[in-house]
Amino acid sequence: MGIRFCNQCGEPVKYQIPRGDDKPRAVCQSCHFIHYENPKIVNACIVEHEGKILLGKRTIEPRKGFWNVPAGFMENGEATRSGAIREVKEEVLADLKNVTLFGVYNIIQRNQVHVYFRGELAHEHFGAGAETSDAKLFAPEHIPWSKLAFPVGITALKRYIKEMKTGDFSIKEEDIIIDYELLKQYDLS
Ligand SMILES: [Zn+2]
Repeated sequence: MGIRFCNQCGEPVKYQIPRGDDKPRAVCQSCHFIHYENPKIVNACIVEHEGKILLGKRTIEPRKGFWNVPAGFMENGEATRSGAIREVKEEVLADLKNVTLFGVYNIIQRNQVHVYFRGELAHEHFGAGAETSDAKLFAPEHIPWSKLAFPVGITALKRYIKEMKTGDFSIKEEDIIIDYELLKQYDLS
């Protein structure tokens, strides 16, 4: 994959290591523009209401039909927190209060950084919004672990549920290693 054409002039690019650099970059063979490719940021929020967790069921690939913590790619012109709040509003039609940072998860295999917040429903209103067919509050013991969409969501939720027992929340930075065998198991269940 990668970049094939220059986003400045439309001519083909070639992957080369520019002078003074140590990584191959897509370099335009016509105007010599160098395209730098960097990780994307995803913002997410674990939403709690009276001891239950709000999840949305995805209607789009990847992982269509699986439950997920509301999350999505950050837009230009927004902050991580406002991005997470926007995703919650879009996907599960909910307003939040007490939104705080929960964790930063590096997914090096996908070139993504996921910034997880935690928050509470501002009022008891939610529903299925964009790219979502269902929105539901799950008690910790009823979280559908085998039907959760992504390892990062599973990792974050597991820690959240452990920490919500004491109310003593931490902020952690973790690397998520995608286990493709484990993903296969989830597909089968
Ligand atoms: Zn060019």
